[in-house]
Amino acid sequence: CIYRATVLIAFSGTLTTYAQDRKIDWRVDSLMKLMTLEEKVGQLNQYSGREVTGPVSEKKTDLLQDIRTGRVGSMLNVRGVKDTREIQKVALESRLKIPLLFSLDVIHGYKTVFPIPLGEAASWDLGAMRLSAQIAAKEAAAAGIHWTFAPMVDVARDPRWGRVMEGAGEDAYLGSLIAEARVKGFQGEQLGSVESIMACAKHFAGYGASIAGRDYNAVDMSKQQLWETYLPPFKASVDAGVATFMNAFNTLNGVPATGNAYLQRDILKGKWNFKGFMVSDWGSIGEMIPWGYAANEADAAAKAITAGSDMDMESRAYIDNLAQLVKEGKVSLKWVDDAVRRILYKKFELGLFEDPYRFSNFKREKKVFSDPAHRVAARELAKKSIVLLKNDQNILPIKKDVRNIALIGPLVQAKRDLEGSWIVESDSVNVVSLMEGVRNQTSNKANLIYAKGAGVSSSSQDGFAAAVDAARKADVVIMALGETWDMSGEAKSRTDIHIPGRQEALFEAVKATGKPVIVVLMAGRPLIFDKIAAQASAILYAWWPGTEGGNAIADILFGAYNPSAKLPVTFPRSVGQIPLSYDVYNTGRPVKDPANTRYKSMYIDSPNSPMYAFGHGLSYTTFAYSDLKLDSSSINQNGEAVLSFRLTNTGKVTGEEVVQLYIHDEVASIARPLKQLKGFQKLSLKPGESRELKFTIKSELLSFYDNDLNWIAEPGKFKLMVGSASDDIRLQTNLTLR
Ligand code: BGC
Repeated sequence: CIYRATVLIAFSGTLTTYAQDRKIDWRVDSLMKLMTLEEKVGQLNQYSGREVTGPVSEKKTDLLQDIRTGRVGSMLNVRGVKDTREIQKVALESRLKIPLLFSLDVIHGYKTVFPIPLGEAASWDLGAMRLSAQIAAKEAAAAGIHWTFAPMVDVARDPRWGRVMEGAGEDAYLGSLIAEARVKGFQGEQLGSVESIMACAKHFAGYGASIAGRDYNAVDMSKQQLWETYLPPFKASVDAGVATFMNAFNTLNGVPATGNAYLQRDILKGKWNFKGFMVSDWGSIGEMIPWGYAANEADAAAKAITAGSDMDMESRAYIDNLAQLVKEGKVSLKWVDDAVRRILYKKFELGLFEDPYRFSNFKREKKVFSDPAHRVAARELAKKSIVLLKNDQNILPIKKDVRNIALIGPLVQAKRDLEGSWIVESDSVNVVSLMEGVRNQTSNKANLIYAKGAGVSSSSQDGFAAAVDAARKADVVIMALGETWDMSGEAKSRTDIHIPGRQEALFEAVKATGKPVIVVLMAGRPLIFDKIAAQASAILYAWWPGTEGGNAIADILFGAYNPSAKLPVTFPRSVGQIPLSYDVYNTGRPVKDPANTRYKSMYIDSPNSPMYAFGHGLSYTTFAYSDLKLDSSSINQNGEAVLSFRLTNTGKVTGEEVVQLYIHDEVASIARPLKQLKGFQKLSLKPGESRELKFTIKSELLSFYDNDLNWIAEPGKFKLMVGSASDDIRLQTNLTLR
């Protein structure tokens, strides 16, 4: 009878979206009426499948028994058609046959690895990032995955923090647009297609501001700062329809994010009216005990569910305590019901009650994995994400007829390192190394002389002599230096972010030969490399570029692609400047005159400026900005002004420019940053081609949060700046808000 009821609920008809929503509500309600309290709590638990994958019969673990008895709602780290089918089968042995959700960290690709998210962000190409997420979703969905723990939308301004690689950089505006693109890429038009998966905006909130860049640390910031800088990408994710959220390991002003009702209930589910569900971060409910915020697991469970954490990833807090807490009246049933309702709703939306195996399809898995279009897209995005930091005397692109090329450094032949951290199903042998990419571009016409020179983090100089020898024989030297894949990422905080080991010394030894040296840096974070910055002929920052990395870098080295990426994050000169971002304040003591620097807001041992600024990135062509016009010099609160200007490609090759709009509020009720990004456009122009570009300025772009968290635009004068980087403003004018 219960089985019939479940089937009946599952098979009722289809209509428009509104009617569908109502219908799902009705199906969820009907199902919940059949559920015991224990079965409800069961839906709120998620466990890792590392323990249970493989032939089910050999794995009679407690976890399998929990799944079989309806005590688990979701699994993470089970992937592939075979394994997901086997585990789903166990869940369908439970009384109500509620299917499991399979989730995984599909961060920058599943089978085909795209550049790390920070690298992708450097492309400033929202369409390409959306496509990257879409392909990752398609591959993951074909392997039985319903849900990814991505995008990470944490604003991060501290490169000591290893997870800076997982996000979109330091800026709230750019980060919000990228969050939207990624959510829409993963999820497609509507959940329920077997080619898309649920996205998850994480880590709510403030995680990127862990004190001193130490992972899992406390976060302390004003609410003004939280709302202005850290929350916008989360809000953008909600607006884009994100299905789920993940909370975080950090405290925010003393309260763990996981037990934080202000964040989860008041803001997310209240003010923003988010309808999806919140999963905890791995074990973060239990971690409220060592934080000193909960006395024991039962206390942690009560605090987490009450504060709005719907699903418990990997702690035992809910599974062991929640039903009892409800029975004792210590937790209101309404919170459990609310969490269950949100989770079941998504299972219905994904169509899992119609067919619990619909994502796990052998034929589709095979077909999708071998789609050549995916590698093409990975190469495209890798090309767009590589930043040309420096190009003295236009040494790049390398002339096609060059005879002898020395390839030196620990990452010349690397494959696994090009994928970076957070990969799942990729096979590193398929990665194109830089060596292979260069060979593909030169079609064996050039003589390639290889020397490793040094390991990434080794202290030995034994390989230096061979490297110098290789350089002497060459017309041009390409060095591949940086970090190995495991040096940035979760739990990879560093106090020293100089390029590791003896790599900079290797560079100096090679440079001393007098040969032109082009340095390709691969890393998961902004590194410090002052000697390379000063002495290299050219520098490409390739991040960890993914499966097609070597080809993409070679495309740029030899001019098959004209670089167009811009830094989404500031590169400091020294660790002592951190945290450093482009949106600095004038202060009461700005340095106006270099001859008079006494008692100014500065360091006595370093300039204030970064090594490379936010928005910086060169091209093989040049762009001129001219003819700035503002159609009215003042607007009222509901008005708008159109800022227009002309962009001309003044060089010899076709190129893409990212034009950036920055705004400064000159006098306000709280001090405002000197610049904030408020618009950008990426466009391609042929040599000599010129186009008129426009930005529409409304009071929304002039608004900010005051200290009482009002979103306001205050009358007064605003500076509007247009340029090629945050430190390369080409045109500016003023606008008055009446
Ligand atoms: C990370 C999350 C991740 C989760 C599941 C945690 O340690 O903080 O970002 O999604 O593990 O793998």
